[in-house]
Amino acid sequence: MAGTATTHYFASEEFRMKQEKTKLFTCSPHEVISNGDYKQTTYCHLLLGLFFHKEVECITSTFAYSIVQAFSSFEEQWEDICKDIKEGNVSSKITWPKMRKAVLDIIEPNPILASRIEAICEGLQGSDWFGLVPKLWPNAKYVYSIMTGSMQHYLKKLRHYCGSLPLVSAEYGSTESWIGVNLDPSLEPEKVTFAVMPTFSYFEFIPLYRQDQYSGSGSVDFIEDDPVPLSQVKVGQEYEIVLTTFTGLYRYRLGDVVEVSGFHNETPKLKFICRRKLLLVVNIDKNTEKDLQLVVEKGSQLLSKHRAELVDFTSHAKLTHQPGHYVIYWEIKGKVEERVLCECCREMDASFVDPGYVVSRRTNSIGPLELCIVERGTFKKILDYFIGNGAALSQFKTPRCTNDRTLLKILDLYTVKRFRSTAYG
Ligand code: AMP
Repeated sequence: MAGTATTHYFASEEFRMKQEKTKLFTCSPHEVISNGDYKQTTYCHLLLGLFFHKEVECITSTFAYSIVQAFSSFEEQWEDICKDIKEGNVSSKITWPKMRKAVLDIIEPNPILASRIEAICEGLQGSDWFGLVPKLWPNAKYVYSIMTGSMQHYLKKLRHYCGSLPLVSAEYGSTESWIGVNLDPSLEPEKVTFAVMPTFSYFEFIPLYRQDQYSGSGSVDFIEDDPVPLSQVKVGQEYEIVLTTFTGLYRYRLGDVVEVSGFHNETPKLKFICRRKLLLVVNIDKNTEKDLQLVVEKGSQLLSKHRAELVDFTSHAKLTHQPGHYVIYWEIKGKVEERVLCECCREMDASFVDPGYVVSRRTNSIGPLELCIVERGTFKKILDYFIGNGAALSQFKTPRCTNDRTLLKILDLYTVKRFRSTAYG
């Protein structure tokens, strides 16, 4: 059956055997893990995770997004979870009979634990849930997940929930082939590199050169050279990865841009840069996922000064009116004055450094950047839309740029405020 690598892995005998061998067991049984209803499974994961709180040594999910998402739903559901622990019951929200039965077979009433968790949560509410993980799981040693690339945005929130607990950035892989391992788990996620395992697939690398001129065609992001094998890559050079796999993909372009940052013995260590596809293009401008990430980070710094935070974001190059312009959608937690949001919008517009963008903005062949603030919960609706179309929560990555009509409809429907940049006069 077609599916993502992790879906197959969690259903496999290997997954069960690995738990036996490493003596690292999951709190949830198979009936919870394999259920496709992410809201109900998240609830059960949290319930069982707390029921076994003393034994929990590590908290993990494939992508960091799902961990943040789980704890943000915990903020809303902790009272129900405590009630279930107190009574040894499962909330009526859990409607899947097999899943209900599997959880009910495990939990027993534990009023002492329930009131301890309640007291901790009441305290945590006052500090906006800072340090939730070490407080609720005092024996947890680390949090393990993919935190690089498009997951980097969730690091801030993850650090907030984890306090000083180490964050271990997981491996670099894809459904098509696993690629590299993080040999230095104690490194900050921002500094992590991945040593390629030369036996996972036959790897080739297409050298990529950034266009420093804005004279190139708008649809070309990098100039490519001929692919080189693993043994011929050079430190400091950016490449797109090409895979020939044991399962039959021949010279498959993965679409990821990586930079060789050094070697481990003779295998290269890769720094993940971004997805290859250009994100935002109006005319001669070229901005990637990484460029957008940096700009949004800069713009949202102003939010933290006003005790607000950026929950999630996406973008769109709007071409329906001339001149075209970038639209960035933000979901924010906390109240922020319009004056501050106006400044965030200006700051983002001024922070794109791509020469194509800067020149186009100066000549007004790209219009002022638009910042749209969406209602709280909009990105959850987007997640539901993707899940409804067959995506798995564990594989979900918020699209950082979209042309999807339904998605844009959702975003526009829930936009509550709009700002246009005043940068460039
Ligand atoms: P999927 O095919 O859904 O398993 O997703 C694979 C894609 O996720 C890769 O091509 C990357 O773009 C991204 N990805 C996987 N692991 C990492 C990682 N450690 N850091 C950054 N991005 C990653």
